[in-house]
Amino acid sequence: EKLDLKKGIAPGSYKVAKEEDYSDRAIWLDPNKCIRCERCVEVCGKVQGLYVLTMKGSGRERAAALREGKPWALSDNCVRCGQCTVVCPTGALQARDQVDVANDYLTDPGIYTVFQFAPAVRATLGEEFGFPAGVNVERKIVEALKKAGADCVLDTNFSADVVIMEEGTELLNRLNDKNAVLPMFTSCCPAWINFVELHKPELIPHISTTRSPQAVMGSLIKSWLPEKKGIPKEKIRSISIMPCTAKKDEAARQALAKDAVPDVDLVLTVREFAKLLKGKGIDLRKLEGQDFDTPFMSKGSGAAVIFGKTAGVAEAAARTVYYVLTGKNVNSIQFKTSEHPHVEQELTIDLGEGKSPLRIGVVHGLANADYIADEVLSGKSPFDFIEVMSCPGGCINGGGTPREAGDYHP
Ligand code: SF4
Repeated sequence: EKLDLKKGIAPGSYKVAKEEDYSDRAIWLDPNKCIRCERCVEVCGKVQGLYVLTMKGSGRERAAALREGKPWALSDNCVRCGQCTVVCPTGALQARDQVDVANDYLTDPGIYTVFQFAPAVRATLGEEFGFPAGVNVERKIVEALKKAGADCVLDTNFSADVVIMEEGTELLNRLNDKNAVLPMFTSCCPAWINFVELHKPELIPHISTTRSPQAVMGSLIKSWLPEKKGIPKEKIRSISIMPCTAKKDEAARQALAKDAVPDVDLVLTVREFAKLLKGKGIDLRKLEGQDFDTPFMSKGSGAAVIFGKTAGVAEAAARTVYYVLTGKNVNSIQFKTSEHPHVEQELTIDLGEGKSPLRIGVVHGLANADYIADEVLSGKSPFDFIEVMSCPGGCINGGGTPREAGDYHP
């Protein structure tokens, strides 16, 4: 059976879908809306170093090819970071809109909807409702979701903490094993994982085996929550709100499904979530805010919150490693600007007598990550642990975050 991509990933159809059916599960291109400004080509090429949007030929030839409906984007090399959707001024490139699927779930009395939202969402959604950039609207999001009909709202900060513990422990194990593969890279950014699989598969042993926070929470929603709340698993729909278009792609991975049912049924970007709320007449400015539903799965540490920006994951893991090895909390961690041209920040932590210091590097933008990957593969990297975020500045500038005022809003 073919999937109807306009309708999203219906849980039933997931069972029969083949991996290739999801080739456009995150990003859409409508060539008829393209005005050939090539902002997408610029961001794809210069920031991400990919050029998957480039089509050979002169501007006139490209325009003619587009009019004939020839594809010029989203080749097999695309990692679905969605940076092109942020800069496209006409909406020719946009994240696959699944607001209608979310509304179907919310209005179906036979479905129990469980939402999670990422650290960066609370700092970016406010802009869609006229708040200054960076205002934390966490409690307002919970109330807005409840008003929209959500049955349960959980915090991805909780699963980000789980990821920190897992990733920190994995790093420690690798550091203590002289045969282990080092340096270790973070695994929470799905566009980075797509990049490695597509462009540098030989780097896979260097990637942490830990799931992303979205995938960890999705797994808990489909396994632990049904037992805890006594709700049949088949009735639960797990919905994430993410700053990220590549998370749509991640949620549809067969490897992250159990018995062919995905742990995360649906991913809405921040822009889609704003559209859903506006469609229901819910204005964030008029809400007081309320607490999350389940206290246990809605607690998150300060370490989890900083997942939303570059160096956040690395800092969180460094705190964990330091605590486990020394029994002491780190009073302050100060990353410094790196002199390495492709590393944004770096940190060296003294782990005590007889132990080598831990060197951590922070990289963002895939053009930089490409260079660092080659350095690691040639055995020349000075780092033990490297954080990679595909989007410039991390998830707060993700492909699913609000566009500049005045740009195209679907
Ligand atoms: Fe998604 Fe964040 Fe990675 Fe961007 S940096 S692709 S928003 S996980």
